[in-house]
Amino acid sequence: MNTPVSVENVVKRFGSGETAVVALDHLSLNIEEGDFTAIMGASGSGKSTLLHLMAGLTHPDEGRVLVLGKALSALSDRKLTHFRREQIGLIFQSFNLIPTLTAAENVALPLRLAGEREATIRERVDEMLHKLNIERRATHRPDALSGGEQQRVAIGRALVTRPAVVLADEPTGNLDSSNSIAICRLLRDLNETEGVSIVLVTHEPSVGMYARDAVFIRDGQLCHRAAIADMKDAAELANLYQTLLAAPASP
Ligand code: ADP
Ligand code: MG
Repeated sequence: MNTPVSVENVVKRFGSGETAVVALDHLSLNIEEGDFTAIMGASGSGKSTLLHLMAGLTHPDEGRVLVLGKALSALSDRKLTHFRREQIGLIFQSFNLIPTLTAAENVALPLRLAGEREATIRERVDEMLHKLNIERRATHRPDALSGGEQQRVAIGRALVTRPAVVLADEPTGNLDSSNSIAICRLLRDLNETEGVSIVLVTHEPSVGMYARDAVFIRDGQLCHRAAIADMKDAAELANLYQTLLAAPASP
């Protein structure tokens, strides 16, 4: 079985000359099947850039990213778009739902783009809405849904194609704490019951706590990886986060 995501010694720079920023600095990371990995770090540490590389939304200046053994930069734009649509589920802080479509239609969208049969679409969408406990909202448009419900719809849209890996960038960033907890539990359930590999970017230990392990990034470098199962509680993760990220940078 191919490793879902393999990040090999990537460097990503933005800009040039005096104002150049090294967003990722020789970073390597593997996400194995069934992993639920939180990527943690301060604002500006390179978390989103890393997630975008994993999705092939941008390409590294050095190193490479493989998803299911395929080097993303080697694919043509068209192949990459198809590959992403089939194999990668993307979830963002802003839900990015299409306002004129209902919840069910938003979830159905990737299947429609993939040219699935109508009966398959209906079956998969119903199953997904049920799993996410939003069947009663199926015919509502996004503006009639709460933030938590909108993010459930976005998760449904990300998962409906049964991707090998789900990449989520601060998915609870726009939610209040009870909705955040519900979304975190949902992601954990999906990982436990369906075995979906999940990469979850967050700067909040209370969110990272739901993952199986945490990867800490600082100034574009991976500085630590820790199993969360070994931790007593969220306070322990928060302490580790503080210790790792508040320590002076190595010269
Ligand atoms: P995080 O998600 O951890 O907050 P980012 O990956 O968004 O961090 O950003 C890492 C660094 O790269 C920051 O210094 C940021 O300003 C810079 N950066 C990210 N995207 C761009 C871009 N499109 N153009 C210029 N600089 C960028
Ligand atoms: Mg970010």
